Amino acid sequence: MAKIEVIGVKKVYEGEKKVVALDNVNMNIKENEFAVIVGPSGCGKSTLLSLIAGFEKPTEGKILLDGKEVKKPAPDRGFVFQDFALYPWRTVLRNITFGLEIKGISKEEAKKRAMKYIKMVDLEGFEEVYPHTLSGGMKQRVAIARALAYEPEVLLMDEPFGSLDAQTRKLMQMELIKIWEKTKRTVIFVTHSVIEAVYLADKVFVMTARPGTVKGMIEIDVPRPRDYTDERFLKIREKNF
Ligand code: ADP
Ligand code: MG
Repeated sequence: MAKIEVIGVKKVYEGEKKVVALDNVNMNIKENEFAVIVGPSGCGKSTLLSLIAGFEKPTEGKILLDGKEVKKPAPDRGFVFQDFALYPWRTVLRNITFGLEIKGISKEEAKKRAMKYIKMVDLEGFEEVYPHTLSGGMKQRVAIARALAYEPEVLLMDEPFGSLDAQTRKLMQMELIKIWEKTKRTVIFVTHSVIEAVYLADKVFVMTARPGTVKGMIEIDVPRPRDYTDERFLKIREKNF
């Protein structure tokens, strides 16, 4: 059974100007799969992710998680945003434990869990610092640790590395794959970079410009760790996009 199924999804924003953001989007993502959605700016990638998260509802069609229709946000789906969305007035540790405690997890357990993921994203020693003292890559690591700490079944990532410099971005891609291999969650990762998509994905969904729809799906059957100079990797990049 699919972990996530997107079935005939259409999203229309009614406003002064009516915008058809998505039209007849269909997707099938298996458990533990690393799925990447790639497409031009404005094609509805963020819209699709927020529908899967349950922040918004489709105008037509539906989204199933484990066969059950998504109606609202829930802790089974974690979200990582492009702009990190950290609380500037809380330390790294508190950024992570705060939400866990709200969920009713005890202080000790929340701290234990936060430390596990702080270690995983290689930020041990930075627990007590405030976000503004961290680099962009480090902030994004905190955001990833925070999302993972909820132990969601599905991790939704909306252009999380979009604001990082090229070198940091490559490093974060490598780190993310390592973390994913350790935690084996289902990941849906949005990007407008084809290279990033091919580097990360088991499966790439390619979207058209607005109204966004899936124009193709490509399985990336290249073993990891992948290498930007690998011939197979370069061939896929040339052929399919
Ligand atoms: P992407 O993430 O691929 O860049 P978005 O999902 O952000 O694309 O946007 C798709 C289209 O829907 C754009 O034309 C955008 O302006 C429009 N849109 C997104 N959110 C809203 C909203 N809340 N109200 C009206 N239009 C929106
Ligand atoms: Mg977007």
